[in-house]
Amino acid sequence: MRLFECGTLVPGCPWHTRADNDAEVVRRAVEHMRDTHGETVIRENMVDNIKARIVDETQAA
Ligand SMILES: [Zn+2]
Repeated sequence: MRLFECGTLVPGCPWHTRADNDAEVVRRAVEHMRDTHGETVIRENMVDNIKARIVDETQAA
């Protein structure tokens, strides 16, 4: 599983998501950014920032 924790990008946010591929994690993260953090314009560098923070969870699990 791939894991993204919003707190790595937005300090203090406890939200996280996991999915079996990066594209789905990014899709959910972008949705969360829009709904929770009021990001109406999703910039390309935000997607890069999200991708850079996605970690592989298989070793931890
Ligand atoms: Zn968040």
